[in-house]
Amino acid sequence: MFELKRIAGGLAFLLSVLLIIPLPAIAIQWGPVKVAGREIWPGTNLRFPYGSETSFESAYLDAPVFVARGSRAGPALCITAGIHGDEINGTEIARRAFSWIDPTLLSGTVIVFPMVNAAGVRTGNRYMQDRRDLNREFPGRSNGSVTAIVANTLFTEIKRNCDYLVDLHTGSFSRSNHPQIRVTSKNPRALDIARHFGVGIIVLSNGPKGSIRREASDAGIPSIIYEAGEPSRFDLEQIAAGVRGIESLMDYLGMSESSNDLRVPESNIYTKTSWVRVPAGAGGYFFPTVELGQAVSKGDRLGTIIDPLTDRLTAIEASSSGEVIGMAAAQIVLSGYALVHLGVAHR
Ligand SMILES: [Zn+2]
Repeated sequence: MFELKRIAGGLAFLLSVLLIIPLPAIAIQWGPVKVAGREIWPGTNLRFPYGSETSFESAYLDAPVFVARGSRAGPALCITAGIHGDEINGTEIARRAFSWIDPTLLSGTVIVFPMVNAAGVRTGNRYMQDRRDLNREFPGRSNGSVTAIVANTLFTEIKRNCDYLVDLHTGSFSRSNHPQIRVTSKNPRALDIARHFGVGIIVLSNGPKGSIRREASDAGIPSIIYEAGEPSRFDLEQIAAGVRGIESLMDYLGMSESSNDLRVPESNIYTKTSWVRVPAGAGGYFFPTVELGQAVSKGDRLGTIIDPLTDRLTAIEASSSGEVIGMAAAQIVLSGYALVHLGVAHR
């Protein structure tokens, strides 16, 4: 009996040693993070310009970087916004999400690139200074065009530092998107974070080649896009939904000291979407008759185009049953212009 007690006591001692030893080991490993040449220490945050060099050419690397290094170990969540300079909802989501983080209560690291195309954000321009689309140039090249160099610089940081990526966008060219997440179906972990972002609509697509989401996914980083609203306008509701999404994701990833309910929110997942376009020769004044988020049946009227010189009316009808997830504002349109984006209902 005495012998048994000794063995049990020994085992208990061994267990306690095993439990105690790893804790300081983790604490020692959790030091500063290095982003764009700067060290950010646990329990602190820092906002700084990406480039510190002063030269005519380096001005295009003037994008800001925000880093919060948590007091405790955890994953690295990266947020990019303003890759298209006129998509300003994302820049405000990124700013709010970062400014509400207390690094002393954070587990892990949040790295925010709130205005990747900084010149485009200042001037309301989707494209880069060399008139290229930055979101078709990733992973970029160190000896290419200005856009390729910026893409390469950002992508190098993403690959080095990020465990997860959220890229923030809006519709383009006078079109507005109902809040939605886009994610590849190839990476279950990415779909998992898409669900926990919790905006209710998920579109499964790999994204265009050269987009940061697709290239980061292909490099093994679970990545999603949050799309909400239209270019050049702040939409406060959609901004708030984006910030809530980032906070839900941080809760799910164990980064915040939150007691929020961690149930997976319900989502409509669309494996297929389709654009209803202006029929050939039917350009004119477009007046939509549906709203974002509206359910439609095949053949329903989505809007009307009036030829202002002949008064001829063209009815625009739903090509399939589903939900309006994106649409053009009332405007002048020409043949082939994308008018209404439908999330196609499952049969
Ligand atoms: Zn965009």
